[in-house]
Amino acid sequence: MVEESLLRSIGQTRTAIINGEVTMIELVNTFLSNAERNSHHNIYVELFDEEAIAQAKEIDNKISKGETLLPLEGAVISIKDNICYKDHTCTAGSFMLENFKSSYHSTACDRLVSLGALIIGRTNCDEFGMGSTNENSHYGPTKNGFDESLVPGGSSGGAAVSVQLACCHVALGSDTGGSVRQPAAFCGIYGFKPTYGRISRWGLVSYASSFDQIGILGNNVSDISLILDHIAGPDEFDSTCLSRPYEKFGQGNTSKDKPKLKVAILESIFSKEYLDEEVLEPSLEFLDKLPSQGIEVHSEAFDYLDYLVPCYYILTTAESSSNLSRYDGIRYGHQSKDTFDDYKDFIKTNRTEGFGLEVKRRIISGTYVLSEGYFDLYFRKAQQVRNLIKEAIDSLLQKYDLILLPTSATLPYKLNALHADPIKMYNSDIFTVLSNLCGNPSMNYPLYTISDKKSIGIQAISGFGDEATLFDFAEYI
Ligand code: GLN
Repeated sequence: MVEESLLRSIGQTRTAIINGEVTMIELVNTFLSNAERNSHHNIYVELFDEEAIAQAKEIDNKISKGETLLPLEGAVISIKDNICYKDHTCTAGSFMLENFKSSYHSTACDRLVSLGALIIGRTNCDEFGMGSTNENSHYGPTKNGFDESLVPGGSSGGAAVSVQLACCHVALGSDTGGSVRQPAAFCGIYGFKPTYGRISRWGLVSYASSFDQIGILGNNVSDISLILDHIAGPDEFDSTCLSRPYEKFGQGNTSKDKPKLKVAILESIFSKEYLDEEVLEPSLEFLDKLPSQGIEVHSEAFDYLDYLVPCYYILTTAESSSNLSRYDGIRYGHQSKDTFDDYKDFIKTNRTEGFGLEVKRRIISGTYVLSEGYFDLYFRKAQQVRNLIKEAIDSLLQKYDLILLPTSATLPYKLNALHADPIKMYNSDIFTVLSNLCGNPSMNYPLYTISDKKSIGIQAISGFGDEATLFDFAEYI
C-alpha cells in the first residue's frame, strides 16, 4: 500500500524512492490502479500504462545502482488531450482528430521528458478546449471525483479529476478563459495559469492563440512551481514566448520575513448579486481572516465587469474560427467515407461530420464577427475594450500585489444542468476570463482540502510576469 501523501507530492515521492521506502513501480502501479478503479469517471482518454511501467523500472534500476536521478524523475504527470506528445495520439477531445498521431513533442512535453518526468496518460477535455463542464467531449463527460452526478468543470475536467483522485501527481491542462482554474475550483485543488507567453504554445492544439496558455493543476504549490520552473522559458518555436530571462521562483524563494501584502477586491463582486450563497459565505469568511495574516484588503471600483464575457467570446470565437479552418480533412482531420464530385462538398462534409455542436457554434459566431460589415462593430470594438480592461487591471496592480476574485460563482453543477443553455455556460466564465484578456498570471486556491469533499476556490491575479507573488500568497494563507 503506497501512502496517500506520496501520491500527492513530487518532493516526498523523490525522497521516498531515493531512500528505498517505496519503489517507483509500486507508485506507478498505484496511480494506474486508481485510474482503472475510477474509470467510470472517464478521466483518461488513454493510459500509457506499458510505457509507464517500463520507465518506472528504469528509475528503480538507476536507484539500485546508486545513480543520481534527473530533476523530474519520480514525477508522474498527466497531459490534457490537446498537448502533443511524440508518437502518441492527440485528439483535443474531437472526432475530427480521432486518428491524429503527433510526430513531434510539444515544447512542454519535450522539456518534461528530457528531465525524466513520467507521462502517464492523456486526459479527457471539452472539444478543442471549448466548454466549462467537460460535457463537450467526443468521449463523453468526465465526472467529478467528489460526486459522480456533478461536472468536474472544464475544459480541463479530466486533468482536474486525474489529480483529485490521485491518478498522477500533477496535470498539464490548457487555459484560454479559465479551463485550468475553474475545474481546479470544482475539484478542490490548485490550478495555475501562467503569464501569457511564459510557457511555449508549441504543440498545444490552438483554440484562441492570443489567450491560450498551458497551465498546471496540482495538490500543492511547490509541485506546480517545480514543474513551471522546468517547462517555462523562451522557445524558438513560439514567437509569442516571453523573451525576458526567466527567474526561478517558488521552491524556497519565499522569504521568511514576509512583507505586508496588499490585495484588492473588485467592488460588489463578493455579494449576493454575483455569487451563490454557498460560495459567498466561505469566501467572505476567508477574506475576513486575511488581515490577521498580515494582508491588507481594499475594495476598488472596476467598470468593466459586464464587458468581460462579451469581449472574451467575440475575440475567442473570431480566433478559433480562423485557427480551426485548417481542419478540412485534406491538410488535417477527419475524412468522410462518402465519395464527392466537388471538393467543396468534400470539405463541408468532413467538417460537418468531424466537429461537434459547440465547436460549430463558435466557428459560426467567429466567422460572423469577422465578416465585412461586422468587423468594426464587433471584432475591432472588442479589441479596444480588451485594451481598456488591460489598462484598468495594470493600474490596479501598480497599487496592489494581487487582485482577489471568486473562481466560480457557483458550486459544481449537476451534469446536463447547463449543457442546453450555452449563454448561461458562457456567463459562468465571468471571473476567469479576466486574466486571459489581460495576459496576467492567475491561480485557483482551494478553500478546503480534498478530504473535506468540498469544492470552493478563490482566485488571485498578479502583475504581468509576476508568478512569484501567486506562489507566495499560498504560503500566507
Ligand atoms: N469556458 C471557456 C470557453 O469555453 C474557457 C475555455 C478554456 O479556457 N479553454 O471558452
